[in-house]
Amino acid sequence: MTPRSDIRTSRRLSGVSYSLRGPLAAQAERRRAAGQDVLALNLGDPAAYGLPPAREVLRAVRDHLDDSCGYSSAAGLLEARDAVAQHYRGKGLHMVRPCDIYLGNGVSELAPLSLHALLDPRDQVLIPAPDYPMWTASVVMAGGRPVHYPCDEASAWYPDPADIARRVTDRTRAIVVINPNNPTGAVWPCEVLDGIADVARRHGLVLLADEIYADFLYEGTRHMPLAQCAPDVPCLTFGGLSKRSRIPGYRMGWMVLTGCRSVGRGYVAALDTLASLRLCPNVPAQRAVAVALSIDDTAALTSAGGQLRLRRDHLCRLLADLPGVHTVQPSGAFYVFPRMTGDRYRLGDDDSMAAQLLHEEGLFVVPGSSLGPVPPGHLRMVTLPPPDVLNEAVTRLARFLERRETSIRRRFANTSQPKGAGPPASSK
Ligand code: PLP
Repeated sequence: MTPRSDIRTSRRLSGVSYSLRGPLAAQAERRRAAGQDVLALNLGDPAAYGLPPAREVLRAVRDHLDDSCGYSSAAGLLEARDAVAQHYRGKGLHMVRPCDIYLGNGVSELAPLSLHALLDPRDQVLIPAPDYPMWTASVVMAGGRPVHYPCDEASAWYPDPADIARRVTDRTRAIVVINPNNPTGAVWPCEVLDGIADVARRHGLVLLADEIYADFLYEGTRHMPLAQCAPDVPCLTFGGLSKRSRIPGYRMGWMVLTGCRSVGRGYVAALDTLASLRLCPNVPAQRAVAVALSIDDTAALTSAGGQLRLRRDHLCRLLADLPGVHTVQPSGAFYVFPRMTGDRYRLGDDDSMAAQLLHEEGLFVVPGSSLGPVPPGHLRMVTLPPPDVLNEAVTRLARFLERRETSIRRRFANTSQPKGAGPPASSK
């Protein structure tokens, strides 16, 4: 008998991670199992924070369970794709037809599918940094190479299209745009989107526009669909019901193709093949699409006095009161991405900062370093929880930071220092 050896895993997976549910999440789970408390601000799941879906959406699914037992067509039910097409035509994308739409079990299924159909080994995809890590992981799993382009905290977390253009090589195939952005909450303005569309146009690239937070906008901020800036450029727009209708557990998303009719026949055929290999998206959830898109209840949550607006404002206010913590106020989505200034708190790398926060305070947030190459000191927190939970979260963060500052002061006090050196300044 041959000796047993470890199962060799795919080399493709080395370097693939999804921090939002990675080792830190496992650690949080172990703490919970051991009866220790965990305050989790790691997942953008509205349902988990007392923001339920509209009853009509649930009813639409329940009422159709009996006739949803079979497979649907691979791209999804026509009635649901029709509703998505109508939705995008209402946003100014007048050319969208049901045959331009693929439904899927969330954007998380469709994004990898779009990349598998596009990439050859070592092809490059430009991805914002920080990013929602599914995109980086999906590029790697499709055999491609993620090339990150920085978003600048000092410029409201916008990227610079000229910088993106400089990163294009003869292996570049696509540019990912996440707008409104997770994790920064930035909503990129038309000039930036036009600039990115122009880079794609000049270099023959595909645009991959993740606009799953398009309905979550604060203070009159306008969202421009990327496809509208580039009707002549192949563009896949991703959206779904996970956030808009607050039913992430139902797994329903879509991808809308524009600008592909003249140049994208081969690509569309590849998408068709991959879509049919997974047979079809979850059929009961498809029944929710038309009803969900006929209800527009996100403005009530995000406008003045709405629950999401109040919670975002509350968290930003609490963070603003912490010395040495800098936060760009998000204009959309439901995340903040504060920075703990390094000269005040010597926190080490983001991973160990987040691990220590969980260990010492039971606070579970996402380290910035797990969201692509970003300057150190960042954490991602969701703005979804009610004010009392946010109070508790920031109290724990403040206690943690205070301890770090005290320990720095103690360290400085115990060392004989040259004149002029000392503990970090205490001003904000
Ligand atoms: N895209 C972004 C930017 C997200 O933040 C998320 C989830 O948090 C997803 C996609 C995943 O969406 P879905 O639930 O449709 O798979």
